Amino acid sequence: MRALKASFHSAAFSSNLKRVKSYSPNSKVMAVLKANAYGHGLIEAARALNDADGFSVLTLSEAIELREHGFTQHLLLLEGFFKPYEVKICSLMGIGAVIHHAQQIDYINQVKPVKPIDVHLKVNTGMNRLGFMPKDVDLILKQLEESPYINKIVIMTHFSDADGEKGVASQLACFNEIKGIDIYERSVANSAAIIKYPETHFEWVRPGIMLYGASPFDDKTGNDFQLKPVMSLRSEIIAIQTLEESQSVGYGSVFTAPHKMTVGIVACGYADGYPRHAPSGTPLMVDGVITQTVGRVSMDMLYVDLSSLPNAGVGSSVELWGKGVLVDEVARQSHTVGYELLCAISASNRVPMEYQHG
Ligand SMILES: *Cc1c(COP(=O)(O)O)cnc(C)c1O
Repeated sequence: MRALKASFHSAAFSSNLKRVKSYSPNSKVMAVLKANAYGHGLIEAARALNDADGFSVLTLSEAIELREHGFTQHLLLLEGFFKPYEVKICSLMGIGAVIHHAQQIDYINQVKPVKPIDVHLKVNTGMNRLGFMPKDVDLILKQLEESPYINKIVIMTHFSDADGEKGVASQLACFNEIKGIDIYERSVANSAAIIKYPETHFEWVRPGIMLYGASPFDDKTGNDFQLKPVMSLRSEIIAIQTLEESQSVGYGSVFTAPHKMTVGIVACGYADGYPRHAPSGTPLMVDGVITQTVGRVSMDMLYVDLSSLPNAGVGSSVELWGKGVLVDEVARQSHTVGYELLCAISASNRVPMEYQHG
């Protein structure tokens, strides 16, 4: 069997949840578990994050799975109902939904659910992705308040630049100006806002990436915020090559040996979710020592510089990312973000996952 596997550390999850609570001690935590918990496994992540007050997911089937596994927390569908039949199931199972479009209110009125539904009313304050315009919120709130099918209402928005230079000021001002907003619970902060903007914490916070131990800021790592990496991606060396000076390794011959050197061939490639755009020089660990990739990442393999590891050979252990090499560092080298790398591993559907409890 191929050695590549992803291991998940439950203790890191609980530690990261504690970090969220220390940043925003007065807010309830709605842990974001979309995309199979950012590639970490929905149910295992929920178990490790059991102290959260709520879980949010994308699809109804994910929410049902959580209920079937006995989770009693608030559950929220982040994009709400896609089809009217979903209203009925949410009502029966006590699953809450974002309402971001008038059609979703029509669905509720058509279905007339027996038990009224908890909703998060989403306001578009400048992200321009989902949500009602602030000027329309007053009227929508009246409709929802009068509806016998709606239970509790939380008002939410989402920031486009909490991790960037622009920041949250204009969106937050727009949100705070909504008429009558103070009587509702509010939910606006993603990880970047939890870390950087305490004025956004309100009654709920919605952390995603920080729970997984990675940084929401592309110029920082999880370490900078005392977050612990939950996923370790490990494999082994399956072959060794010796390159003479000026010989190359891999497709396109993009790496040429500056001197005679040994190169390890690692069982991990872009089909597993490792970024193809990771250039020569991307850090990784062999036998616990930090070294770097060389050459272009192949579909099932990549190449590592063993110049500083004379004892490494076939079977030597490789950490692609984890505690020694942070996913944030691999992401930065590859011009992407930790989010994408973490999700890609489980999306590839070919990396076995292993859970370490305690
Ligand atoms: C994904 C998501 C979050 C979490 O964002 P992070 O940057 O991972 O903390 C919060 N809210 C919404 C609506 C999201 O889609």
